[in-house]
Amino acid sequence: MNELTEITRPSAQQVEHFDVLIVGAGISGVGGAYHLGVQCPGKSFVVLETQESFGGTWLTHKYPGIRSDSDLHTFGYRFKPWTSAPIATAAEILAYMGEVIAENDLGRHIRYHHRINSASWSSRDNLWTIEATRTDSGEAVRFSTNFLWMCQGYYRHSEGYTPEWPGMGDFKGKMIHPQNWPEDFDGAGKNVVVIGSGATAATLVPAIAPNCGHVTMLQRSPTYFRTGRNAIPLAEELRALEIDERWVHEIVRRKILRDQDTFTRRSFSEPEVVKQELLGAVRAHLGADYDVETHFTPSYRPWRQRIAFIPDADLFQGIKGGKASVVTDEISKFTANGIELKSGKFLDADIVITATGFNLNVLGDIAFEIDGEPLVFSDTVTYRGMMFTGVPNLAWVFGYFRASWTLRADLVGDFVCRLLNHMAEKGVRKVTPSLREEDRDMKRLPWIDTDNFNPGYIMRGMHLLPKRGDKPEWQHTQDYWTEKDEWPAIDLDDGTFVYG
Ligand SMILES: Cc1cc2nc3c(=O)[nH]c(=O)nc-3n(C[C@H](O)[C@H](O)[C@H](O)COP(=O)(O)OP(=O)(O)OC[C@H]3O[C@@H](n4cnc5c(N)ncnc54)[C@H](O)[C@@H]3O)c2cc1C
Repeated sequence: MNELTEITRPSAQQVEHFDVLIVGAGISGVGGAYHLGVQCPGKSFVVLETQESFGGTWLTHKYPGIRSDSDLHTFGYRFKPWTSAPIATAAEILAYMGEVIAENDLGRHIRYHHRINSASWSSRDNLWTIEATRTDSGEAVRFSTNFLWMCQGYYRHSEGYTPEWPGMGDFKGKMIHPQNWPEDFDGAGKNVVVIGSGATAATLVPAIAPNCGHVTMLQRSPTYFRTGRNAIPLAEELRALEIDERWVHEIVRRKILRDQDTFTRRSFSEPEVVKQELLGAVRAHLGADYDVETHFTPSYRPWRQRIAFIPDADLFQGIKGGKASVVTDEISKFTANGIELKSGKFLDADIVITATGFNLNVLGDIAFEIDGEPLVFSDTVTYRGMMFTGVPNLAWVFGYFRASWTLRADLVGDFVCRLLNHMAEKGVRKVTPSLREEDRDMKRLPWIDTDNFNPGYIMRGMHLLPKRGDKPEWQHTQDYWTEKDEWPAIDLDDGTFVYG
């Protein structure tokens, strides 16, 4: 990203207007553009994207091995069949998105190198005014729009999250965050320590291990993993029968969703059984002598954090082959040559990779104002995790934690288009979610129930996020299986929307 500091101010005349403005050209923004084109054909729209191309997450992350941990039948769009192996590389996902853009002529709606800085709502005009900077020229540009569709994801793309450890400044080796992967990475003959044990660490370790001296995955606490072949037997069977790919996509999606639903329910109803199944699979790969208890047995029940899928057990193969190992311990401090651990052990390191997660980025680091007053997002209550009380004409795509993000991006797409068409039918220009009389005394709770799900980036940023209530309308339920049936039937005149 080329961030130019010298910016110009747009003149009053240079305001381009669109009915809908989409923020971000990741999988959500490109999906939003598709849905608008198909479901609201009369609306003008533009997608503004900071980066030089589409893809979002899949463009930003360039570390070795970068891949999905969801299957692409559900991470792919509902409307475009996925025809390859279920776990996909970033390059494959970008190619798929590129086809969606080309096949639906969406490219003409997308403006790259546009970073949005501020969004101001005027109730007098019923419009948002968007101030953006062209990151290639520094030019300031201004847009107005009736409806803002926030597809900016949930984390800051410019840099990842690295905790502060004592002595970090003393370390003489290289420190790398996977979100800013150096093109010239060379681990040959080097001791590499990867801090973290989430999906990123689990992907990186086997990808770099063959070309490094040794790779140690240093984790404070273990994570659950699932392993399996990177293939779906049902898809293979259907393809062998020469079934049309559109059918394969739909049938396999339904099967995966049903299996995931069963798995999620079991992780609540019989957590111990599920835990033993997961650990049994790890033992089968690592052998009876390996200390699975210490390194792969989390203290929480399955599904409280996302469970990464390890295709073809590549992480475990790396460990078995001796090129990679796992250390479960806490960092005491960095020294010039490595990391001292609380147990007293020392890890020699030439390179340290901090796979320690993201910085939550609420609403794309955009300064929001409503009628001249700064929007305090955490004072609002969310309408189904996509709109917010007191915030007119705005929707945010925030996907699922346990199911593929795109499942929700498609559902939000349908909902926003239905709402826009409903407003057109009613002849209104403004819609604001508002608590009804019966909701006024409802409990205000944090954005998510941390007993249910508690990833680090959410815990660190919870105070920035809107509140939820204790009714399904006023929370992000994280339940695709209910939302897919309930949302199409939502009564848009049930009093939760105030039109104007
Ligand atoms: C390494 C990695 C792997 C993942 N794997 C999976 C997976 O397998 N399955 C799954 O369900 N989820 C996965 N996720 C979560 C993933 O981020 C989402 O699933 C999904 O890609 C998010 O898409 P998005 O379009 O909503 O947001 P993003 O991909 O974050 O894209 C947002 C876009 O908005 C742009 N933007 C942000 N702010 C502004 C601004 N102010 N002005 C202009 N543009 C802006 C950004 O530049 C970016 O291109 C993964 C995340 C990571 C980091």
